[in-house]
Amino acid sequence: DQRERDSAGEDSIKVVCRFRPLNDSEEKAGSKFIVKFPSGPEENCISIGGKVYLFDKVFKPNASQEKVYNEAANALNIITLVLEIYVLCGYNGTIFAYGQTSSGKTHTMEGVIGDSSKQVSKVNLSVHEDKNRVPFVKGATERFVSSPEEVFEVIEEGKANRHIAVTNMNEHSSRSHSVFLINVKQENLENEKKLSGKLYLVDLAGSEKVSKTGAEGTVLDEAKNINKSLSALGNVISALADGNKTHIPYRDSKLTRILQESLGGNARTTIIICCSPASFNEAESKSTLDFGKRAK
Ligand code: ADP
Ligand code: MG
Repeated sequence: DQRERDSAGEDSIKVVCRFRPLNDSEEKAGSKFIVKFPSGPEENCISIGGKVYLFDKVFKPNASQEKVYNEAANALNIITLVLEIYVLCGYNGTIFAYGQTSSGKTHTMEGVIGDSSKQVSKVNLSVHEDKNRVPFVKGATERFVSSPEEVFEVIEEGKANRHIAVTNMNEHSSRSHSVFLINVKQENLENEKKLSGKLYLVDLAGSEKVSKTGAEGTVLDEAKNINKSLSALGNVISALADGNKTHIPYRDSKLTRILQESLGGNARTTIIICCSPASFNEAESKSTLDFGKRAK
């Protein structure tokens, strides 16, 4: 349980940080690479504009996808625990990517996987509660899968839906959360005992300030909603990180309601803080890093 893990020195919330390389347009615009990665024993800290941040792990721009997977998801046991061990005890896990648009969230969560034209346009699904008061998303696509290839197919399908939902609206409104759930179920055929574990992979909407998106009207309202849900998530995670056992404000947003059973309690959470190293994005990077710091 929580106490056993606490005494084993393991936090249920880990925060890692990844900086992508400076990109062509940042370089052309004369942006400087402003992040410092101290070497030696402090290799899990970064400094930006004189401010120092410490995380469970820091990934430099040249870190491979494999390294990030091994050291952020696997070494922190989320994947193994949910897929192999947690399911035996009914535990859950969540991996988030948080950061401004174009900071590398999708790259981190999905890497480069092929494009697909499979689409089923489902937008604005609502959150309901089952008879045990466990929240679920009504109308969300559920597929039985039996191989990694099939998992990738489902991810592609979800991605295509997300894209359609975006292009159906205003072009500026390209911010949305993507929540991918892997539900692992196991049944003992002898005693019919059923166990399940859930792994949520969450590619969050860009965390940039609303003013920066240049949005107006309904798009502005939507942008405000997204920022509200991100701050609700920040509040839930920081309440959990502070060891607050009395009130965790899960009900403040659709996102935190959906993720409730996978945040806190016996669940394991890893937040991957994604940042641009460019001077142009310094303010957004700092606010992203501050979000990560609050979760510690
Ligand atoms: P986000 O999902 O946060 O909006 P993306 O993942 O789409 O951002 O990344 C923006 C661009 O930067 C993409 O073209 C992506 O391929 C590239 N990129 C992001 N992270 C890395 C990285 N670590 N190494 C190389 N390219 C990256
Ligand atoms: Mg993205």
